[in-house]
Amino acid sequence: YTGKTSNQFLAEKLKIMLVDGHESTPVVINENVSVYDAIIKVFSEDVGTLFVIDANSHLVGVLSRKDLLRASIGQQKLTALPVNIIMTRMPNITMCQKDDLLIEVAKKLINAQIDAIPVVNKTTNGFEVVGRITKTNITRVLVKLAETDG
Ligand code: ADP
Repeated sequence: YTGKTSNQFLAEKLKIMLVDGHESTPVVINENVSVYDAIIKVFSEDVGTLFVIDANSHLVGVLSRKDLLRASIGQQKLTALPVNIIMTRMPNITMCQKDDLLIEVAKKLINAQIDAIPVVNKTTNGFEVVGRITKTNITRVLVKLAETDG
């Protein structure tokens, strides 16, 4: 018997999995929205990360829970503070595409020390946000792989 161990099968399956089909729905807000409204959105949509878009629906920034907390302990009036002042902005955004390998996206989450990565579609004048990969999506894939046999 020279068969592969189940670990080798698991590794092989994991290494060919793509982002497509494993992403969540992205939650986006316009760059002119206030930090106050962004905080409301985090609760109403039950997400940790918001993706910020411009009037042309192109990705311009990312807002994490800590970005919102940091702004909240400042002296600013949150209803008058637009998210584009406090967000992490392009070109410093870690992104992925539907046909990227999921394992590579998992490595990006670890290396950039972030919780979520927007799945984007590149157009001639920017990136459209079409999905979201979080640590939860990666965890779900791991559990699914462990439950699958053969
Ligand atoms: P938190 O800040 O709540 O711990 P993260 O670890 O995801 O959440 O975010 C850490 C920092 O990295 C934040 O300032 C956030 O704006 C930024 N960030 C989050 N996701 C991305 C991303 N995909 N690309 C670039 N920066 C990001």
